[in-house]
Amino acid sequence: MTPTQDIVASPNDVLKKVFGYDAFRGNQQVVIDSVMAGESCCVLMPTGAGKSLCYQVPALCRRGVGIVVSPLIALMQDQIATLRELGVRATSINSALSYDEVQAAYRDLRAGELDLLYVAPERLVRPEFVGLLEELNQRGLIALLAIDEAHCISQWGHDFRPEYRELTNVRAKLEGVPCLAVTATADEPTRKDIQERLNLPRLISSGFDRPNITYTVGIKHNPKQQLRRFLKERPAGESGIIYCLSRKKVEETAAWLVEEGFDALPYHAGFDNSVREANQDRFIKEEGLIMVATVAFGMGIDKPNVRFVAHLDLPKNIEAYYQETGRAGRDGLPSEAWMIYGMQDVVLLNQMIDRSEAPENQKQIERQKLRSFLAYCETATCRRSVLLRYFGDECEPCGNCDTCLNPPKTMDGTIAAQKLLSCILRTGQSFGANYVIDVLLGNANERIISRGHDQLSTFDIGGEFTKIQWNAITRQLLAAGLIFADHDAHGALKMTAMGMAFLKERQTIELKVDQLANSAKIERGAK
Ligand code: ADP
Ligand code: ZN
Repeated sequence: MTPTQDIVASPNDVLKKVFGYDAFRGNQQVVIDSVMAGESCCVLMPTGAGKSLCYQVPALCRRGVGIVVSPLIALMQDQIATLRELGVRATSINSALSYDEVQAAYRDLRAGELDLLYVAPERLVRPEFVGLLEELNQRGLIALLAIDEAHCISQWGHDFRPEYRELTNVRAKLEGVPCLAVTATADEPTRKDIQERLNLPRLISSGFDRPNITYTVGIKHNPKQQLRRFLKERPAGESGIIYCLSRKKVEETAAWLVEEGFDALPYHAGFDNSVREANQDRFIKEEGLIMVATVAFGMGIDKPNVRFVAHLDLPKNIEAYYQETGRAGRDGLPSEAWMIYGMQDVVLLNQMIDRSEAPENQKQIERQKLRSFLAYCETATCRRSVLLRYFGDECEPCGNCDTCLNPPKTMDGTIAAQKLLSCILRTGQSFGANYVIDVLLGNANERIISRGHDQLSTFDIGGEFTKIQWNAITRQLLAAGLIFADHDAHGALKMTAMGMAFLKERQTIELKVDQLANSAKIERGAK
């Protein structure tokens, strides 16, 4: 516990007198109380929620200097400039400083004449610097250790930085110093990793909810028609963003929308700077434009009245999806996050992971993130709850997502699941969904006949469902973790231990019927 003489000011006073704000926002008070009590914690807050004050205020309230680890020199300089204007004694140690400047910073530190010191991770972990910190700590001159962008410490995060790993040792050496790790994005494995590596008993997370955004996810069957219907059902003249995976699809979709009478512009990294800037500028300044874009669009775009964000393809994980959909409705007015996806998206994203240059363990992590995303897409429960849980937060069924507004009916899918799983086993767990479904449907094509799979007991036992319906069942079994697509074997469907147990122990499963019913209608309609 921190002796009271180590507290030199109260958080509320500092907030008002130094920063000029009236009240803390969201979880700031909770975090600051925790640090003031000498507790260490991991803090998750969305971008713009005010993470910096969470360490700046207690650094000024507790005796000694607050050490802030930050990976980006530009952001450091920014914060320091702002703090100095407010009269805070802040400085940084990074690779951009001269030897003399660094020595001056060391002198100030020893003299106890700094409130906040920003330091790059690779600097912090140098033995002479760690030694200095230990010396300061013995003299009670370290107020706290704050680690910004803390997800960088974890391979499970989306921006792993090896130099962050060393922070574990530094943290361990600073006994009694409250440590505060802050980040805007961390799924559960990343959170756990941060907490373990930095020995942080407490997790404080909230503020991720965007209650004015309605989440809708549908199955892709005729994307253009679906998109047109979505747009036609919305009031005319709204600004919106439509995300596509490829540059080609961006251009095609934008051109098609213009033909259809919409004001659409394309944006992707393949265009000249001048085109990109012009289109971005128009989107921000004019109203009622639809930007069709790849992920290259959106960083730093602060247009408050984007009324919808539509995804024609699945982004690569929940983090990306949440960031992109989060560009809708910054003004707090009702807005829509709409997405359609299909098996082909999952296959494509898995292929992209396979082909990437990333090391194998990184690929495993990305595949796991994709599986979590698929589970979100296939959920029969409140989408907002699934999203918030992903970021360590919670909510009751929200009443403002497609699954809350139109709860999917479920049916006993035990027999369907048994048929599909048996067929995967009988064909030797060596084939993709299309092949397995063809066997179930009794489509005796050449591949199937040449392997004798038309003789299997599972051949032609699935006639009660269409191909599209079997695809829906396959997706749900993938999302439920009963099967997985093995990417070392060209995406062959294989059983998981859970899938084996499902068959062996004669377990039951509920499947969403609306998808099945809808797709049946679509298929009949198409004929
Ligand atoms: P983050 O790091 O979480 O993205 P910042 O710490 O940069 O967010 O804060 C975002 C903005 O909100 C800043 O301009 C900051 O001054 C402001 N802000 C933070 N906390 C408060 C508060 N309690 N009252 C008013 N403004 C605040
Ligand atoms: Zn809901």
